Amino acid sequence: MKVIAVLNQKGGSGKTTIATHLAKSLELKGYSVTLVDSDPQGSARDWAAVRDEQSLKVIGIDRPTIERDIKGLAAQDFIVIDGAPQAADLAVSAIKAADFVLIPVQPSPYDIWAAADLVDLVKQRIEVTDGRLKAAFVVSRVIRGTRIGNEVEDALNGYGLPVLDHRIYQRVSYPSSAASGETVMDLEPDGEAAHEVSLLTNEITNIIN
Ligand code: ADP
Ligand code: MG
Repeated sequence: MKVIAVLNQKGGSGKTTIATHLAKSLELKGYSVTLVDSDPQGSARDWAAVRDEQSLKVIGIDRPTIERDIKGLAAQDFIVIDGAPQAADLAVSAIKAADFVLIPVQPSPYDIWAAADLVDLVKQRIEVTDGRLKAAFVVSRVIRGTRIGNEVEDALNGYGLPVLDHRIYQRVSYPSSAASGETVMDLEPDGEAAHEVSLLTNEITNIIN
């Protein structure tokens, strides 16, 4: 079992969008996956509630005992945790449970600065685990035709955690597919959005395995 925690204390960075897509994408690649919704707001559970097809398991664990509570899911290839905003105790618990922490950040200096506390927590845990925990940023909600500014690249590099090569672009298909509990892969399996999710998933599984 490998646990991927999608975390960022900032709301709106794309955690739920990325967690749901990553979970579904791993499943499409043949892995067994459970999506753990650790946000008391229950966005991923809402997403799961409106869909027709029920293959992907989605459960809610919004207590700071995630590392203990997921032990019963050990038979799964992957657990993807959709992180909660704020609630440092839930973030700490998700970090303890994780093999890989994925930090989505929007390409804006404000969003990157806001990740400072989380980065500190993650780096402490990397040290405690002798590097067994891995972590990376993914740039999320990139507006097409724009460049990630140098100041954003510099700020991310300054944190000393890697930035994944693949990015998630701002696309209407993300919220519109979510409205029916689906993903961009359901809307258009051969489309650009499905392709970027697949590339991101492969990049992450290569790092973890
Ligand atoms: P978080 O879970 O970090 O709060 P969400 O995934 O819920 O973030 O995203 C916040 C809002 O932005 C939602 O309305 C979502 O549909 C939208 N959104 C997130 N990622 C994208 C994207 N790549 N393209 C377009 N809209 C997005
Ligand atoms: Mg969310």
